[in-house]
Amino acid sequence: MSRCLVLNASYEYLSIADRWIDALTLVLSKKATPIEEYPEVVRSQREDFRLPAVVVMNRYVKTRRKVRLWIVPTRKLVFSRDGFRCQYCGTGVNMKTGTRDHVQPLSRGGPDVLANVVTACRDCNGRKDDRTPDEAGMKLLSQPRSLTESEKIQCLLKTCRTKERDTWLECLTRIGVRLG
Ligand SMILES: [Zn+2]
Repeated sequence: MSRCLVLNASYEYLSIADRWIDALTLVLSKKATPIEEYPEVVRSQREDFRLPAVVVMNRYVKTRRKVRLWIVPTRKLVFSRDGFRCQYCGTGVNMKTGTRDHVQPLSRGGPDVLANVVTACRDCNGRKDDRTPDEAGMKLLSQPRSLTESEKIQCLLKTCRTKERDTWLECLTRIGVRLG
C-alpha cells in the first residue's frame, strides 16, 4: 500500500504517513483534508474510502523536530543543494570525491548547519584549511543557505517509489508548489 504525504496547514512539508490507516485516520477525525487520493479503495462495513495520497492539516502543527532534520548538513543535502560542484572552484564532485567545508570553521565556533556548509573539492578544502574564505583569499561561488520548501520536497520525492512520486508531484504542481 502507498504512503501519504502530509502537508502542514501552511502547505509546507510536515511528514510522511507510512501506513494508509494513519492517513485515513487523520482525515476521518477531521484533523486533515485530502487533496489527492489514490485509485485504491478500502471498504468498511458501511462505507468505501479512497486512500489519501496527499493531505493538508486543518490546523498548523508546530514542528521543531522536523525543522532540525533539514538543518543537519549531510553530504547528500549539501552536495545536492550545490549541484555537486565545489563552491570555490566550480569543479564537479561526486559522493566519493566531494567534501563538506564549514565556511566559518567549526574550530572557530562556526555552527554545524546547512547554512554554514558548502560543497568543496579536496584541493580547495585543503587549501582553505581552518580559515575563513577571506583569510584564505578564496571566493565563494554561492553563499551556504538552508533549503527552500521546494528543495525539501524534492529531496523527499527522490526517496519515494515511482507511483507515490508521480501522484505527489502532480498534486504539488496543481496546488502551485513549484519544484526546482
Ligand atoms: Zn575546488
